[in-house]
Amino acid sequence: MKYISILGSTGSVGTQTLEVVAANPGLYQVSALTAQSNAALLIEQALQFKPEMVVIGDETKYTEVKSALLGLPIQVLSGTEALCEAASLASSDIVLTALVGSVGLKPTIAAIKAGKDIALANKETLVVAGDLITLLAKEHGVQIIPVDSEHSAIFQCLTGERYAAIEKIYLTASGGPFRGKDRSFLTGIGRAEALKHPNWTMGAKITIDSASLMNKGLEVIEAKWLFDLEVDQIDVIVHPQSIVHSLVQFNDGSMKAQMGLPDMKLPIHYALAYPDRIRSDFERFNFIDHPELTFHQPDRETFRNLDLAFKALRMGGNMPCIVNAANEVVVNAFLNDKIGFLEMSDVIERCMEELQFDASASLNNYLETDRHTRIFAGELVTKQVY
Ligand code: MG
Repeated sequence: MKYISILGSTGSVGTQTLEVVAANPGLYQVSALTAQSNAALLIEQALQFKPEMVVIGDETKYTEVKSALLGLPIQVLSGTEALCEAASLASSDIVLTALVGSVGLKPTIAAIKAGKDIALANKETLVVAGDLITLLAKEHGVQIIPVDSEHSAIFQCLTGERYAAIEKIYLTASGGPFRGKDRSFLTGIGRAEALKHPNWTMGAKITIDSASLMNKGLEVIEAKWLFDLEVDQIDVIVHPQSIVHSLVQFNDGSMKAQMGLPDMKLPIHYALAYPDRIRSDFERFNFIDHPELTFHQPDRETFRNLDLAFKALRMGGNMPCIVNAANEVVVNAFLNDKIGFLEMSDVIERCMEELQFDASASLNNYLETDRHTRIFAGELVTKQVY
């Protein structure tokens, strides 16, 4: 029996993780569940999975959750500090981090310090502080198992291999709903169109990131830290069918790809079971249903975020953190109809140019940068100067 804490249990990855848990009753037990604001679903999940602890981030909803679970042996906590308690709960073996954004940073650090393996679905944590997180994981002998489908693919391809033998990796990108579109088309589009992802079922933030190619940019940074790569060893290739989830090219010229239908439950299932593989009844891939798998270059001129992320990664220091925080602000603004699709990249670039670059690798630097960037990007959006 493996004991799992799920941070962000009411989101897309969180709910799919609980589907995997429910489908394997003898294998997994839930230790803690946390949600930011969806109290109703958190209560429902707590009643079904009977964790030891639940955390509701939004303190105004504490009473609602507490009273619904009254009389049950479930500790109910609230607030952001409580996330760290859930992450370091003594009974859990593995913490699945499915929080959205850099808010995942502190709980992930708490989990690693408590010696928990991490099933990482919160890529922003590695984008912001990949150097610190990977070092900390090494110090505490903790495994970081990627849940992001591309990184799960690379991780699976690398099983039994030495990382030193990697020549390069290719992260595949579906291209999202606007693949093949030009800037004039993108000028007028709104959240409804951007939220229609052709292949993957995901939360709102990552779906917008997929449409803008920022998701791939963040994944490039995530891959650098997960697999200890140089920037030039990471390439992105558009693969609209989302069947090949990513590839590794080794120094002898051989390549390995991991394939499957686009279903987040597969990488979740793999991360929870790792290093084992456990039978599932997920739908199987059939070659005849997908006779054409195609690949082409991303359109870096229309979708500028990809190169902004590469630039930030080359600069290092707090630059990826600036990109991430600015992106969180603009995606939120776009979802609230406060900014256009193309202007999101303009704000991010402006933040990269104007905020103080700091090469020092410290948590304090990253937290301060995150805070300053959110204020600055918020002002740019409000004043519509970018
Ligand atoms: Mg991904």
